[in-house]
Amino acid sequence: MKRIAVLTSGGDAQGMNAAVRAVVRTALDHGLDVFAIYEGYQGMVDGGDAIRPIRWNDVGGILHKGGTIIGSARSAEFRERSGRLKAVRNLLLHKIEGIVVIGGDGSLTGANILYEEWPELVAELVADGRIGATTAAQFPSLAVAGIIGSIDNDMFGSDVTTGADTALHRIVEATDAITSTAASHQRSFVVEVMGRHCGYLALMGALAAGADWVLIPESPPDVDDWAETMCRLLRKGRETGRRDTLVVIAEGAQDRHGNPITSEQIKRILEERLGEDTRITVLGHVQRGGAPSAFDRNLSTLLGSAAVVELISAETGTPPFVMGMRGNKLTRTPLAEALRVTNAVTTAIVAQNYDEALRLRGKSFQESFRTVRTLVRALPHPPTPGQRRMRIAVLNAGGPAPGMNTAVRAAVRLAVDKGHIVLGIRNGFHGLIEDDISEMDWMSVSGWATRGGSELGTNRYLPHGSDYYAMARNLEKYAIDGILMIGGWTGYRGGLELHRQRHTFPAFDIPIVCLPVSINNNLPGAELSVGADTALNSIVSAVDKIKRSAVASRRAFVVEVMGNYCGYLALMSALATGAERVYLHEEGVTLADLEADVRQLVDGFSKGKRLGLMIRNEYANPVYTTGFMRALFEEEGGDLFDVRESILGHLQQGGDPSPFDRILATRLASQCVDYLEKQIGQPEPRSACVGQVQGELLFTEMEDIARLMDMDVHRPKRQWWLDIRPIARVLAKPAPQTQSTNNSE
Ligand code: ADP
Repeated sequence: MKRIAVLTSGGDAQGMNAAVRAVVRTALDHGLDVFAIYEGYQGMVDGGDAIRPIRWNDVGGILHKGGTIIGSARSAEFRERSGRLKAVRNLLLHKIEGIVVIGGDGSLTGANILYEEWPELVAELVADGRIGATTAAQFPSLAVAGIIGSIDNDMFGSDVTTGADTALHRIVEATDAITSTAASHQRSFVVEVMGRHCGYLALMGALAAGADWVLIPESPPDVDDWAETMCRLLRKGRETGRRDTLVVIAEGAQDRHGNPITSEQIKRILEERLGEDTRITVLGHVQRGGAPSAFDRNLSTLLGSAAVVELISAETGTPPFVMGMRGNKLTRTPLAEALRVTNAVTTAIVAQNYDEALRLRGKSFQESFRTVRTLVRALPHPPTPGQRRMRIAVLNAGGPAPGMNTAVRAAVRLAVDKGHIVLGIRNGFHGLIEDDISEMDWMSVSGWATRGGSELGTNRYLPHGSDYYAMARNLEKYAIDGILMIGGWTGYRGGLELHRQRHTFPAFDIPIVCLPVSINNNLPGAELSVGADTALNSIVSAVDKIKRSAVASRRAFVVEVMGNYCGYLALMSALATGAERVYLHEEGVTLADLEADVRQLVDGFSKGKRLGLMIRNEYANPVYTTGFMRALFEEEGGDLFDVRESILGHLQQGGDPSPFDRILATRLASQCVDYLEKQIGQPEPRSACVGQVQGELLFTEMEDIARLMDMDVHRPKRQWWLDIRPIARVLAKPAPQTQSTNNSE
């Protein structure tokens, strides 16, 4: 493979630029020629200036931009065979052997058809004398890689598609803002989000917003008189003291006979039957706007880079494939298969076969739907007579992190709904030692889904000595059957200690589960901890601003980010902002490294570079501090460039949780409640830590957890994300010698 082209097509999606950048730079780095096809398939049909070489620096400075810099379009001509014939000729004229298509299911259907028709279209061009037989023989087939750019997340082949996370950010920003005004006026709001055949945005938006009712195409209300059911529930919610009502509806919502349900209709129902002052917000294109989230930038970057690597290694004639992500693992699915399942969902919805539609959406979608249905209840189900009501204690421990409240709320409601009793322990292990414990009911966590910080209180106090006696006494006093610790490293250490001492203190011989919440993402048994995504977004938006402050001057920044000894935030924020250098404790920093970095900076700035960006983990090296690095670079830069340091500090721990963190927190909490239910009362109850591992939510037993922890540096011994370093390094390199170097980002 010598030459590939990249295009973005169909509805634009946030993160498309990151994908384009990754495709272009990875391909150039592998020595390929890269062309951009402007304005989607229309550019392919038109040829000429719409297909042009694209260079390293052409994709600099675009990570934070919405939309797509190479343009997208809907092309009616390409839908016709005659249009595709022109497209094939243009690709052949440019000797393009492979394409990366970034678009939705329509665009990828088009790509699949192009691949299938390729031999006959080429033959036709030869027969007409529009292409020489020798050229045709050189290009027997077209290699096609797809990246799903779709804000609806409506396509099979990736857990999440490019643009969906950013769309959720926009939805949650809107619902958070709306709920605050709705509460002051006791109003009702109907928020309509995108998704004609896919309820992903509505469902996850409702989960993240703590909405009171949700309507999605895949699972319409199961009764004909759904309006009455909805009103009954909302009325009850008001009676229990809720000050606002939020209904989230997907644009493709329908009843079980396939009749559309509109936001207007919901508004009428709420006004007529409940007498509620109701407003509608249709989010529309807002969901495609704004800066791409950190997640979308990194997802798209990894997919773009992988698509090129796969294209290069694919044998001639390999059928088209889509690159996707499952958990943190890159996946490759045959495009035909991805399209088949995607179409099957739509067919099932149209045929009103809703069970099938839900089944095809997959396990985590179904699970989230079940969870939402419980969380929206106005009141819990009453306990079943004669059932064993378990007494579950919940606490936060460790550094504060966004998502703690979300997880506590979900755990309290889900457990109470199952008839159990939840006891909240305040201020981490202190509360358990000092008897600061009280029962939490359904309404005690109202409004917590969206709130940053820790309402229960959290700190890094690790129990020791006589604390254990006090904790055992209180566990007995409150007859606690199981503990849910929601927090970070200290919480894990504390949980582990209690478990270890269960033979000395029988009160500790109960199931203990730990749910990972820490901005550092340094917890064992979980590839991602709740809170890290929010912190990452805070860092990325701060760095975006810092970079913009330097447009006119020649300046380099050393930005220090948190993470304790774990470099996750540093590396991922570097990947999302295009930082050219990242300093991690895991790798260490040497004087030789710094000398090489100085040389590279001097070289870059002397060739016209305007901006330098380095991200340093707070504990990367105790001697070569952020201040030291700044001084060193400043001195060596002389008149060539200035250096500024920026220590981002506590803004990383604050803020309201991102949609991703809210969703993860809720899903994990649901698993933990189920786990405790299973373990409580067992003769030898087990204790464990929950976490997402390769896309699945799994429990790692407490005995194994200790072995995964590096106790000296407070991080897991193996960290999956370290494997991403080579990609970050390649993509942020300065342009190769042959290309101009004024903007390497
Ligand atoms: P999306 O890719 O976002 O789903 P569309 O469905 O509008 O958006 O598709 C974008 C473009 O992809 C269309 O304008 C058309 O050029 C091409 N396309 C879509 N479906 C087909 C098809 N069945 N055959 C050929 N080209 C198609």
